[in-house]
Amino acid sequence: MERLALLRSFSCSTTAGRTLIFGGRARCDRSFPAHFKQRQQFHQHRQLRHPLSQPSAALRRRWAGAGASPGLRRAFSFSPQAVSTSPTQASPGADESSNIAEKLGFKKISEEVIDECKSTAVLYKHLKTGAEIMSVINDDENKVFGIVFRTPPKDSTGIPHILEHSVLCGSRKYPLKEPFVELLKGSLHTFLNAFTYPDRTCYPVASTNIKDFYNLVDVYLDAVFFPKCVEDFHTFQQEGWHYELNDPSEEISFKGVVFNEMKGVYSQPDNILGRVCQQALFPDNTYGVDSGGDPKVIPKLTFEEFKDFHRKYYHPSNAKIWFYGDDDPNERLRILSANLDQYDKSPVSNESRIEPQKLFSTPVRVMEKYPAGEGDDNKKKHMVCLNWLLSAETLDLETELAIGFLDHLLLGTPASPLRRILLESRLGDAIVGGGVGDELLQPQFSIGLKGVAEEDLQKVEELIMSTLKKLAAEGFDSEAVEASMNTIEFSLRENNTGSFPRGLSLMLRSIGKWIYDKDPFEPLKYEKPLQSLKARIAAEGSKTVFCPLIEKFILNNPHCVTVEMQPDPEIASQEEAAERQILENVKSSMTQEDLAELARATQELRLRQETPDSPEALKCVPSLSLDDIPRKPIQVPTEIAEVNGVKVLQHDLFTNDVLYAEVVFDLRHLKQDLLPLIPLFCQSLLEMGTKDLDFVQLNQLIGRKTGGISIYPFTSSVRGKAEPCSHVIVRGKAMGGRVEDLFNLIRCILQDVQFTDQQRFKQFVSQSKARMESRLRGSGHAIAAARMDAKLNAAGWISEQFGGISYLEFLQDLEKKVDKEWSEISSSLDAIRSCLLSREGCIVNMTADGKILTESRKYLAGFIDAIPSAPSPGATSWSSLLSPINEAIVVPTQVNYVGKAANIYESGYQLHGSSYVISKYIGNTWLWDRVRVSGGAYGGFCDFDTHSGVFSYLSYRDPNLLKTLDVYDATANFLRELELDDDTLTKAIIGTIGDVDSYQLPDAKGYSSLMRHLLGITEEERQIRREEILSTSVKHFREFADVIEVVKDKGIVVAVASADDVAKANEEKGGFFEVKKVL
Ligand SMILES: [Zn+2]
Repeated sequence: MERLALLRSFSCSTTAGRTLIFGGRARCDRSFPAHFKQRQQFHQHRQLRHPLSQPSAALRRRWAGAGASPGLRRAFSFSPQAVSTSPTQASPGADESSNIAEKLGFKKISEEVIDECKSTAVLYKHLKTGAEIMSVINDDENKVFGIVFRTPPKDSTGIPHILEHSVLCGSRKYPLKEPFVELLKGSLHTFLNAFTYPDRTCYPVASTNIKDFYNLVDVYLDAVFFPKCVEDFHTFQQEGWHYELNDPSEEISFKGVVFNEMKGVYSQPDNILGRVCQQALFPDNTYGVDSGGDPKVIPKLTFEEFKDFHRKYYHPSNAKIWFYGDDDPNERLRILSANLDQYDKSPVSNESRIEPQKLFSTPVRVMEKYPAGEGDDNKKKHMVCLNWLLSAETLDLETELAIGFLDHLLLGTPASPLRRILLESRLGDAIVGGGVGDELLQPQFSIGLKGVAEEDLQKVEELIMSTLKKLAAEGFDSEAVEASMNTIEFSLRENNTGSFPRGLSLMLRSIGKWIYDKDPFEPLKYEKPLQSLKARIAAEGSKTVFCPLIEKFILNNPHCVTVEMQPDPEIASQEEAAERQILENVKSSMTQEDLAELARATQELRLRQETPDSPEALKCVPSLSLDDIPRKPIQVPTEIAEVNGVKVLQHDLFTNDVLYAEVVFDLRHLKQDLLPLIPLFCQSLLEMGTKDLDFVQLNQLIGRKTGGISIYPFTSSVRGKAEPCSHVIVRGKAMGGRVEDLFNLIRCILQDVQFTDQQRFKQFVSQSKARMESRLRGSGHAIAAARMDAKLNAAGWISEQFGGISYLEFLQDLEKKVDKEWSEISSSLDAIRSCLLSREGCIVNMTADGKILTESRKYLAGFIDAIPSAPSPGATSWSSLLSPINEAIVVPTQVNYVGKAANIYESGYQLHGSSYVISKYIGNTWLWDRVRVSGGAYGGFCDFDTHSGVFSYLSYRDPNLLKTLDVYDATANFLRELELDDDTLTKAIIGTIGDVDSYQLPDAKGYSSLMRHLLGITEEERQIRREEILSTSVKHFREFADVIEVVKDKGIVVAVASADDVAKANEEKGGFFEVKKVL
């Protein structure tokens, strides 16, 4: 269930390396629940974030540069409970509501008051079809709707995934090419996406604007029930797969958005491992196949099977529907009855039920190869992962909660014993398998290492088993138990879901049970089981509670699968050759007429894809008008004071008794050659320990006293200034009563930590290297973007030192010399500290209720007193840039990431708010249509960094290379020839405002305000930009064409791509790319 994923997600506030959790669902690096098909992930990349709300480039850079603390995002994102200050309200006029429900054809099954989320939740059944509806009533303005179907696949053709893409491509009421994109362009949604899980498909939307919310709900309901794709073969071809042949004399190729997306997924070793583990644990049920689609199997899917799957599973009898927020609960039922009444009951809900996997009687071993680069390094690139299926059925709530705690105790922080012992063994570079996986019918536990030498594989397995046995015999420190308890409780009560609407994370948790026909209320109510678990630990001792769990579920459990992965430099080219062979066979089996017909069909599909919807068709998608848009930007209360010579920003916002604090230090005095050490410096502060406390004790103290502390670098250009800003930010949070502890701990970390632990430092280097390598394969677009930035401006150059190819090269080199040069490295870390720790340029940012702010100031004063005030030697000039050549970073992959960028300020462009509207529009129309829809890439987008002036194009999981550059280069022409009617323009403006006003929880509001301060963005400027956005006209689009012409003419190209494609490109365009091999 979700709760365990959720518990896990709280962990690790202090550092790196834990599985990546996003909004409460485990997106593990082994990616167990193989796919929440990443429209999500991708759209996040394509939607511009504006400096007016959240500085985009700055944020991107923060993550790009936060090499040492990816744990941070987790630390500050997520949990369950409520938003409002007001007490729980009873559902308005309960009797009356029941009457209305009955009249509309619904039967109330049960109603509960959920204190944890200050809500009343009512479960209904739609009598005619059996559809189930959860109606959650509270006063959260961020309203959420979602519809979920059980969609268990029988094979790996990717039907559920292709269908998830396809139903958003036009429907009965909205017969456009992609209503989804129209909503992206022109609505105020705070969330809009779709996910495919191994056994279900979810369609969630959210908005704070009621009119907008109803629009989104209507488009989504029509999309899932009445999609055009079941009649339209073209959509199936476009989103799924088709043969492409431009000319009968050329070679045939496979194309399709999902086909290519999955090729990208199948190019990432971590993903391959996750899939192999899942399939080996569940050989006999639906989890034994890939709901996302195996690129080798996808082309076996027929249109008939695709249509049948929709007819069968996208039926109200198989649907769970969720409403949440402050909207009228009766209106929810009215909307639904209009849609559901058109159906009769179907027996599908019996057929779609997920069968449990029977437990093995003996363990299993699986060996698999994955595509690797060439080189000696492969000797140390094996992976091994041990997996257990924990039970034959779903667990009861209290056991689940206890297992969630156990998971946190074993792996939750760098100090957790299983994690620590594995990494300290130096048998591998980084942890794989994210501990407990609880999103499928039966929970699993997985743990292993990657970057292992072949001869050490056995040792890793033995070490895992011996550590687990030791822990089962001896139990855990009471400090560790207390730290886990506090961390989990803090996160539950803080309920910080990051950029995810709170109602959506609740929905995903509830669905995790509901989808298996269990009680959907149960996952929302954590308080009672939490208290009873605490009471049990207090009464019986943690040993009695946790040790038997390790015995029963792991040590004595024969359903164990050991997966070993071997690097294979041949496999990528073998697979490519096999695919070419299939296509050659297809071609040779065709007659001349067939080939001519295929070329004609290819042409027809492309023509259709590239023909825009008519203005009349576009009008059918409901939209707001400009009158619905507030004229003023969202204000964050900010009071600026000075405490002992340090500037303090305070934001008086309701935070449910939590203080969020950031302490910002200026990096500008640092010597240039120390820069690449910054991410490791940050990690060392959190994970090395002091004279009196070893790092385990220090981490436990952080866990016991606070909600987490993280440290990371932040760098950005500042518009109008030659020098970039560059900082190290310390971020922490604690309950109001623990503010003193928080500041004491931050001080201790900054001043007392000793950089003496050579062995731990070596681990950090290996971990960071492993992380950079998987980033290179999985997020090549971010690597390419950072690389281009580093060629174009100083801030980009610095950021690339912290998280790009340069950083990876630095780590590769550093790994070799840590032992020889440890004393120099150790004193460099000290030198960074003494340079950084100065009151000069230091800024403190605090977000909390006024009362907590006032109390915090006295602890803050003491904290600041302890920071040296020595005048700094003045800012150093870092004027380095990477050479402005076109570069191809060659990696073993089946898909490419293609970027092109230039600085448009340098050719005289002056920032105007219309540029936000225009770049969003380019991304959602021209690039979406050409790079994704007809190009077959998973994504194509552009980004305008308004601080530096760099305008960049990027593609994501792209089958093309040079062809994509042609699309970029034609963008100016697209703008020149663009016909924009008023409606389209209005939608583009509203969509942009939606980004600018993106929904933020209080901590994010305070943080954005700090970012604006650092980047010199004033309230006056925000107001001006907003007015410029609102008054954007066609004229601005035309003028912008000339502005971005410079990207075509002077732009720098960086691609992360396969060796074959780069060789072909260099042949075609005589040495266009300088080739760089890093893996
Ligand atoms: Zn997808």
